[in-house]
Amino acid sequence: MTTGNDLYGNDLYGKACERLRQIADRADLHDEVIEILERPMAVLEVAVPLRRDDGSLEVFTGYRVRHNNLRGPTKGGIRFHPSVSASEVKALALWMTLKCAVVGIPFGGGKGGITVDPKGLSLLELERLSRSFVDRIADHIGPETDIPAPDVYTNAMVMGWMTDEYEKITRRHEPGVFTGKPIALGGSLGRDDATGRGAYHCIKVLEERNGWAPGDVSVAVQGFGNGGQQVARLLHDDGYRVVAVSDSRGAIHRPEGFDIPSLIHFKNESRELRAVYCEGSVCDMVEAEQLTNEEMLCLSDVDILIPAAMENQIHGGNAGAIGASTIVEVANGPTTSEADTILAERGVMLVPDVLANAGGVTVSYFEWVQNRGGLSWPLEEIQERLERLMRGAMGSVLTLADERGFTMREAAYVHALGRLGDAVYAKGTSDFFLD
Ligand code: GLU
Repeated sequence: MTTGNDLYGNDLYGKACERLRQIADRADLHDEVIEILERPMAVLEVAVPLRRDDGSLEVFTGYRVRHNNLRGPTKGGIRFHPSVSASEVKALALWMTLKCAVVGIPFGGGKGGITVDPKGLSLLELERLSRSFVDRIADHIGPETDIPAPDVYTNAMVMGWMTDEYEKITRRHEPGVFTGKPIALGGSLGRDDATGRGAYHCIKVLEERNGWAPGDVSVAVQGFGNGGQQVARLLHDDGYRVVAVSDSRGAIHRPEGFDIPSLIHFKNESRELRAVYCEGSVCDMVEAEQLTNEEMLCLSDVDILIPAAMENQIHGGNAGAIGASTIVEVANGPTTSEADTILAERGVMLVPDVLANAGGVTVSYFEWVQNRGGLSWPLEEIQERLERLMRGAMGSVLTLADERGFTMREAAYVHALGRLGDAVYAKGTSDFFLD
């Protein structure tokens, strides 16, 4: 444990702080910036009671963390997953603070979650759990304070229930309290594929820079949830060969590439990832190799690897065997610091989570702006604005990396810390007390 703070322990948050401090040491930053960012401003743990369909009561543990509001209200998703812990939610909230600063949107970082396996709940139980959680956190969220959104295993439907519950509690129409809502409740066009689209823009910038011909570039996507599906679809539409895809149960590999719309159709209809080709709703199996997730990460015929599942997938044990020359992190925290060092030594280009998956929160910001102004922007406008912000952030980070010899993660952090540092300074630092 080297975070310099005994409170954190040797856990995901401790590791996230350790990485932050290491990178900050390379940037010319006021010490107070890191001192502020190393501690989340508020950590809430709640008991979330759920009446099961059989009449029994089960009480789950939930969290909402506001990491930092230096640059605006705290913002970030709510995940439903068995591995949710205080440490994980704090790390995810810290990364949201950095992510919002990387793309320059006026939010700080927040995150929430419930330690639960949502696959074991009926739809009605899921709704009751979502509403019960809002009941417990309602005093701590709001359009000017802390604005939740979807994350792992939550979606627009869950955000709709949560918004409805919040409005019942406050007796006010308050669409700006959640983003990623259904369109009918004030959701934004373009929010559904925004995370994947943001990552896609990062890849397009690399394509232009490196002169890639999409047909010659092979892609593997780990995790076939919303982010993974959308980035795979956009790349496939552009002619990239998506040769491997996985979900939590395993991976499929086919060197000729998959028809991604068919895989998405089958997965969303049946909840299963299968190597299929579909004409309309009729799907036939195609030949493919079955692999484990671990084997897929190390495939040698992959140029771009897109981890789009959970944390710590690329670690000291497998980083040396990753076959791809480019990694684009659609998941939050998929690569450990140890792996970062190995990948950098091997010359692997890694576009970090705080940049590559920032498209989701960016369109959440557009949704919040529309809600506050009573507006509804057309899809083209949202996609144009997203592209401009993503390309701008990618360009700034690439320039910083080139000029200062940073990895892309280091450059993205330094870029974000510069903006956070400006906010700390503008609010007053110890400098003002010195003569
Ligand atoms: N959960 C997403 C993320 O990790 C989106 C957050 C948001 O839209 O506020 O970036």
